[in-house]
Amino acid sequence: MKNNNAKVAKNLFEELYPICRSITGNGVRDTLQILQEYAPWHVHEFCSGTQVFDWIIPDEWNIKDAYVKNEQGIRVIDFNASNIHVLNYSEPIRGNFSFDKLKDRLYTLPEFPEAIPYRTSYFNRNWGFCLSQNQYDKLNKNEQYEVCIDSTLEPGHLTLADMELKGSEGKRTYIISTYCCHPSLCNDNLSGPILTTLLYQALEKMDLRHNYRFVIAPETIGIITYIHANEEFFRDVDGGFVITTVAGPGEFGAKMSFSHNADVDRVIRLGFGERKMKYNEYSFAPDGSDERQYSSPSFRIPIATITKDKYYEYKEYHTSKDDLDFVSGDALSETLELYISAIEKLEVNNIYRVLEDRCEIQLGKRGLYPTVSGHVKQSANEANESSPKVIGDIIYSNAIDAISWFLFYADGKTDLVTISEKSGVPVIQLHKVAQKMLKENVVALVEDPNG
Ligand code: ZN
Repeated sequence: MKNNNAKVAKNLFEELYPICRSITGNGVRDTLQILQEYAPWHVHEFCSGTQVFDWIIPDEWNIKDAYVKNEQGIRVIDFNASNIHVLNYSEPIRGNFSFDKLKDRLYTLPEFPEAIPYRTSYFNRNWGFCLSQNQYDKLNKNEQYEVCIDSTLEPGHLTLADMELKGSEGKRTYIISTYCCHPSLCNDNLSGPILTTLLYQALEKMDLRHNYRFVIAPETIGIITYIHANEEFFRDVDGGFVITTVAGPGEFGAKMSFSHNADVDRVIRLGFGERKMKYNEYSFAPDGSDERQYSSPSFRIPIATITKDKYYEYKEYHTSKDDLDFVSGDALSETLELYISAIEKLEVNNIYRVLEDRCEIQLGKRGLYPTVSGHVKQSANEANESSPKVIGDIIYSNAIDAISWFLFYADGKTDLVTISEKSGVPVIQLHKVAQKMLKENVVALVEDPNG
């Protein structure tokens, strides 16, 4: 275990995994209550039957037990063994069924015979069971089965939670959103609420300029409900991240916003680039997660997502094999670092203007240039990554490069993210150069025209 975040993530996975979550009900409440021990999540309840834009909040679903028993009274399908055995949102049922009558209500995944598929029926009243193909093959096709789903589906509430960090300037607001409606499934998407909670902890320690609104809600209907309740707020949101599938063993990925080049997209690319990390870039598509709501025509908020084993792309997705063995605290912690790095870049992304823009600034008289010259660009001395050069408090493998690129583009129009894209110098290094140059009275900060 590399660090404390990894350890906390691992413990949270283990604590939250057994809970049977859905789009409503006590599973969501219990999950939020546990996460409240780590961050000040503020819980909100919305009544069943409420119209939210084109949708209606459904009745609340809760479940105590469910099984299919054979003629010997043995549970051949048992909710206690895995809560995804029940078609999520199944209405209550008790009765005896022949195999022929039962079989249309059994869901399997023949191409992955050892896995139980995860299936839901939120908006059509239905009931059923999910089981592995191997389990299905073993069922006696000539027996009578006793079926019980001890659930309730009644008027109640939809539960979600939010919290906020206010920045010192507060001109820009970002949404950080995740969903909590999946039962015992780890990468999709227990990993999302866990990372989002840890991300709050990390940002809380930073001196923030921008505002950040965090949301955990059931996917789709929960976020639609949240946007409906905060419609005016969402008119002023500049961008955001939907946090999903962040702790798998496989490859990193990034799903870009509809704009493909919004600040949230660009800082993600830069974060991977400066770490020289390989990742899969996924173009925007109007599927996936809650970016579908945030980016809908009335709001058009650009939303990007960093993933580690992206939803749809791994075999275990939406099956019982997306379990505690599939994810790890270390993987989640690595993805968390990428999110923090993206947000750090948004935080320092300013525009500067050099005060003397006619020809170069003389760096030497300000102590910003090596006093012995001639070796600039001689890689043996300068651009050796293992011995970073320090000039003032600017540390970079080639500090002169960082200073030169910064001053070249300090034209009052080009922000640090753009300079980083053009130069390859990390945004944070450019920021350190900018701070130094401000102190030396070489540049002025320009009001962000989009701020
Ligand atoms: Zn899912």
